[in-house]
Amino acid sequence: MARDGTVLIAGAGPVGLAAAVELTRRGVALRIVDAGEGPTPAEQSRALAINPTTLAILGPSGLSETLLAAGTTITGSDVVIDGRTALSLSFKSAHTPHPFILSLPQGRTERLMIGWLKQRQVEVEWNVGLAAVGETHRPSAVLSTGEELAAVAILGCDGSHSKVRQELGVPWSGEGYPGVFALADVIFEAPIDSHRARICIGSGERTSHALLPMGDNRARLIGFHDSPDALIAAVGGIASVTWRSTFRVSFRHAERMSRGWVFLAGDAAHVHSPVGGRGMNLGIADAATFAWLFCEHRETEYESKRLPVVRSVMEQTRQMTDMLAKPPSHIASFLKYAMPMATMLAPVRRKMAERVLALDLPQPEWL
Ligand SMILES: Cc1cc2nc3c(=O)[nH]c(=O)nc-3n(C[C@H](O)[C@H](O)[C@H](O)COP(=O)(O)OP(=O)(O)OC[C@H]3O[C@@H](n4cnc5c(N)ncnc54)[C@H](O)[C@@H]3O)c2cc1C
Repeated sequence: MARDGTVLIAGAGPVGLAAAVELTRRGVALRIVDAGEGPTPAEQSRALAINPTTLAILGPSGLSETLLAAGTTITGSDVVIDGRTALSLSFKSAHTPHPFILSLPQGRTERLMIGWLKQRQVEVEWNVGLAAVGETHRPSAVLSTGEELAAVAILGCDGSHSKVRQELGVPWSGEGYPGVFALADVIFEAPIDSHRARICIGSGERTSHALLPMGDNRARLIGFHDSPDALIAAVGGIASVTWRSTFRVSFRHAERMSRGWVFLAGDAAHVHSPVGGRGMNLGIADAATFAWLFCEHRETEYESKRLPVVRSVMEQTRQMTDMLAKPPSHIASFLKYAMPMATMLAPVRRKMAERVLALDLPQPEWL
């Protein structure tokens, strides 16, 4: 059901763009502004993993078909402990029409969303930041151009340093995680299995890494190493590196996700480690939930629906991150010896696949 007035979306990362898609397909008028010059640089893969829930959410707009045509499907993953394959998991048994992770660099996902919006005459206003939020019940905003505007709702999708969150005075609770992560997008000397991810757990501290394929001989490596060079040396067989980075992570979330008619979504509301590939997917689910509730005149339910999911993803990613950073010896032994037996049971295999695919989180109620 369409509503009068314009929604202002601050931030055109994947979450702001997803909000724009979901509102546009329901006939809601909007403006989407971004302080940056354009989308994520094409060579920076950043959020690479698109999960089945995101594909389901973007089904009605037709975007999931477009993303599927552009990406690589990852249908299973191997867990290697101290050089020995402890588990080969297939995602096929998961209850979903998309039993895989779609691997697609974030910059490409954003460009496909921008293209979809352009076809419907919705243009991102680049180099236009949200500078201030006025009152929150009849929301108004001031943009970096000096323009003042009234909106029916403001959605802050402006990333982890969110201006919208600061303007609302919402506490940002949590903590930094010790140490650095290394990341490298690489081209291997020989073809790799482009449909299987690999998680390698070493028994020492900070020796683990994960590999997510991005095509026949390309992959993203991410690991607990002091530098991308150390990570690349640990994996071996690499011909060239297309992007490398080191970064620190925090586990933080906004204590409120809305005030009046101003809402927070994506990294503006929660950040955590990239282990598990949940960040962008969680943000897209926030955005789509907002669009649905807004059109149903039920936006007051937004925070109570999303905050519990955010807290649960925080907890899950924290556990996964701790396990990879410094696997407790009893867990490493369990994975090495008991896991291969446990996963001979089909229900255990299915449950594990559904966990990896994030299907254990609440699914979109409107689909
Ligand atoms: C190295 C790396 C690897 C990652 N890997 C994964 C992964 O595999 N899977 C996954 O799910 N996630 C991953 N993530 C996390 C993922 O990139 C983020 O969760 C995702 O980008 C969040 O999207 P967003 O739209 O909320 O915020 P952002 O992508 O940060 O976008 C925010 C936008 O807001 C704009 N902006 C900022 N201030 C203002 C303002 N005042 N007014 C208007 N616009 C503003 C910015 O220019 C930006 O375009 C990774 C992140 C990094 C850094």
